[in-house]
Amino acid sequence: MQGTVPTIIRMACLLLAWLLCGGTLAQDAVELQPGTSSIHLSPYVRYHHDPDNSYGPEDAWRQVGRGSFEPLPGGRDAFGFQTGTFWFHVAVVNRDPDEPRWLLVQAYPLSDRIDVYARYPDGRVVHHASGDSLPFSSRSIRYRHPNFQLAFPPGERVELLVRVRSESSMQVPLTLYTPKAFTELSRDAQFAIGIYYGILVALFFYNLVLWISLRDSSYFWYLMHLCAFGLVLFTLNGLGFEYLWPDSPWLADHAVPMSICLALIGMQQFSRVFLELPKRWPLGNVISLSVIGFFAGLFIASIWLPYHVATPLASRAVLAGVLWIAVACVVMLRRGYVHARLFLLAWAMFLVGTTAFTLVAFGVLPKTLVTEYGVQVGSALEMLLLSVALGHRYAALRNENQRIISEANQLLERKVAQRTRELRLALLQLEEAHRRLRESSRRDGLTSLYNRSHFQESFERLLQESRSTRRPLSLLMIDLDHFKRINDEHGHLVGDEVLRRAARRIGQALRPHDAVLARFGGEEFVAALPGTSLNEAVAIAEDIRQALVNEPCEAQGLKLRISASIGVHTITPDAPGDIDDAFGTADKALYAAKANGRDCVRTSITAA
Ligand code: GH3
Ligand code: MG
Ligand code: MG
Repeated sequence: MQGTVPTIIRMACLLLAWLLCGGTLAQDAVELQPGTSSIHLSPYVRYHHDPDNSYGPEDAWRQVGRGSFEPLPGGRDAFGFQTGTFWFHVAVVNRDPDEPRWLLVQAYPLSDRIDVYARYPDGRVVHHASGDSLPFSSRSIRYRHPNFQLAFPPGERVELLVRVRSESSMQVPLTLYTPKAFTELSRDAQFAIGIYYGILVALFFYNLVLWISLRDSSYFWYLMHLCAFGLVLFTLNGLGFEYLWPDSPWLADHAVPMSICLALIGMQQFSRVFLELPKRWPLGNVISLSVIGFFAGLFIASIWLPYHVATPLASRAVLAGVLWIAVACVVMLRRGYVHARLFLLAWAMFLVGTTAFTLVAFGVLPKTLVTEYGVQVGSALEMLLLSVALGHRYAALRNENQRIISEANQLLERKVAQRTRELRLALLQLEEAHRRLRESSRRDGLTSLYNRSHFQESFERLLQESRSTRRPLSLLMIDLDHFKRINDEHGHLVGDEVLRRAARRIGQALRPHDAVLARFGGEEFVAALPGTSLNEAVAIAEDIRQALVNEPCEAQGLKLRISASIGVHTITPDAPGDIDDAFGTADKALYAAKANGRDCVRTSITAA
């Protein structure tokens, strides 16, 4: 019973205090219990928006006292792009005697200016400032997110007032960490970021080598896209401010829209080249060029434009730009460009990640692990898939080239074969024509027997053979008797016909013998009989004579009797003299036959 009264008094005092404080304080206080290593403050934080930037800290404390601070709308700590100042208040009571120092971390790196006022029960107020409008070195711990080391004496209630002013998206995800928990968290986060940038760096060098060796411009634009996008995330993650421009709050602000524009230029140009828009879809090409022009303009403009104008504009345009690429992909797919498939998948990854990130920036989606790192995961997958798509496309182009070359080679081979065939045929025809020409040059036009010049060539050869084989060679000179009369009596045409028939008969008579027969000129014929002795030759000449005389010649319905005088000369292997001597001797024999009354055979011996 003794403890009951003080208990009631204590409760009454607490109730009074609660009523005096507008019913807020006791409810809002966050208790840091032993064993707690981190606590996200959003559920406990109350905020007040001062659009005109008219409050100082004292005014804000007064507003806290009046209870005009409200819980975060829907528990969300992202408000999108806003003007003015946002004030946040939370009371903290540390129940863990082993953890007197905690780290307050604002897990959004782009806020311009954050002031933290910690008010202790003794009325002392400790002030910290951070944000990317101050040099990076002003941070409690060198970390990409603004952070503040705060002392929470065990059992004491500490009021935290946080003032945030930023042209960037108003995101205030505040978390308290014990030093140990923060070390572990930052290590894990750095590890994850390391993996991400490791992938980007590996892809960069891989594709750089490919670009240098292949000189395919799409690899260059891919590299530009990768670098510029890597820079965007480097900036958004707060790493740009930490490592690249720690002393330049101007760049900390302007790097975001500028790198977004660069990334979009690279992305659009890469897509344009990869999807072969200039060749395959001229209208799409014009739209892509316009998008590139817009981002180039925005890049230049964002040097002067205030952050709160340039960044939301660039962020909205990112969605439009990426959506446009997806549209171009779908159109190219429908037009049967197969490489657009992998490309579209890559952009889908990127689109989901970027959409999530953008929606967080505008305060539409809550900031969770998935939405915050969705861009990283999505873009890493996108970059990987794009690299694979590039490889595929290059391989396909190379195969296509090889196919074209081999087809061209085959065509060339076919053409060469066809030309060779045609050439061979032409050669054969030429040879045939040549042979015919040669033959006709050897033949007599009227009787088709060999002509005189050919006979002389042949006889020359036969003479040599006869000497080398030591066999006799006989020569017959055949002259039709009184042929002039036939012409005179029946006309030249009849004479021609008689000449043809006489030639045929002589040829038939000589057929059993290996003879060369020719028309020597006019109505004179000549025959060479290799390996034939004088007697044999005389017998053959006699056969000829009889073949002519025995039967009349039919010409144009007339039956005309003809006869021939034949001179025979046989050249023995040892006999001297040349071809002219031989002809002369045979001619003499012929004259002898004429002189002896015609229609008879005479030899060179009988002629002598
Ligand atoms: P011979 O018995 O002395 O040989 O008397 P021939 O009339 O046969 O001899 P000649 O040398 O006086 O006359 C040859 C004739 O052959 C003259 C020419 O009209 C005729 N003749 C020569 N060549 C041709 C020809 O191609 N066609 C015709 N129709 N007649 C020809
Ligand atoms: Mg004659
Ligand atoms: Mg004659």
